[in-house]
Amino acid sequence: MVKNLKFGVFLYQPEPVEGVDYNFYRIKPESGTVGKPNPKMYTNIAVFGDNALAAKRPEWISVSTNGPAFRTNKRYNLRWDVLCMTNPEVREYNLKLIEECARVTPGISISSQHFADYAFCTCPRCVEQWRQSGLNWVNWRANTVTEFLKEVREKVVNKPLFVNCLPDPLLGKERFGYDFAAMAEYADYFVIPMFSKAYPTPWYWETIARGYKSFLKKPVFVNFYVRGPGETWDTVAPTKQIMTVATRVARTGVDGIIFLAEKAQWIKEFQKNAVQDKETREFLKDHGGDEVLELFNRWEKMF
Ligand SMILES: [Zn+2]
Repeated sequence: MVKNLKFGVFLYQPEPVEGVDYNFYRIKPESGTVGKPNPKMYTNIAVFGDNALAAKRPEWISVSTNGPAFRTNKRYNLRWDVLCMTNPEVREYNLKLIEECARVTPGISISSQHFADYAFCTCPRCVEQWRQSGLNWVNWRANTVTEFLKEVREKVVNKPLFVNCLPDPLLGKERFGYDFAAMAEYADYFVIPMFSKAYPTPWYWETIARGYKSFLKKPVFVNFYVRGPGETWDTVAPTKQIMTVATRVARTGVDGIIFLAEKAQWIKEFQKNAVQDKETREFLKDHGGDEVLELFNRWEKMF
């Protein structure tokens, strides 16, 4: 089932790690801080999720009849503040950063390039653009997301473009404006973040991955949470759970697996822990995700 599975890491600091195919540096995560591009690392940019810009320009926040897209709005599961995606200044600011990073780094990954959730955005500018489009509300929103992706594609010339989509393969269009078939024309890869501080029940992650893989027209990567900013080893999933969920998801036929950590040091510790857990490696044989076990074998030679 699995063939030539790729592996990557997703880091908040510009120091790459060994033993993976792709190193992504989150030059602008949703916190809104902006670092310096590392030519040795692919660049990830969170576009409309931007806490720093939302604090500076709160009038740019995306709005709905259920309130604005601030993290404080408990009607939604917003992990960060989301700006209106038709705001020309926000688009320009991000497209410029994407273009600069695409010039000097091996490729671009974008996150949060979509609407906040159901019912966003009903600011006067969005409502006016919707009216003029002649489309229904759901299709206007999807068209807006696709058109933005097209603009991103024009800035990422002859380099791979990874497009992150939240892990909802059922209602992605209604909630976030994902028209997956249209987006596949501009994306080289889709990445499905599957972030959780625990993975005790891989069945659900496997189901989401299989669902996405069944209809996305470009290669599909998933992303697992090892140790993000502000965590300790006690607040995140044990290595064994991540080894298991990665092996189980590998057998759905996904094309790549990424591991998120704040910095290279946490990935190195994770790699060491995975290598040392011989019992779990043995148990995971015959699950149909052998390429993950081969990754652990390769890591073994690094230590
Ligand atoms: Zn708006």
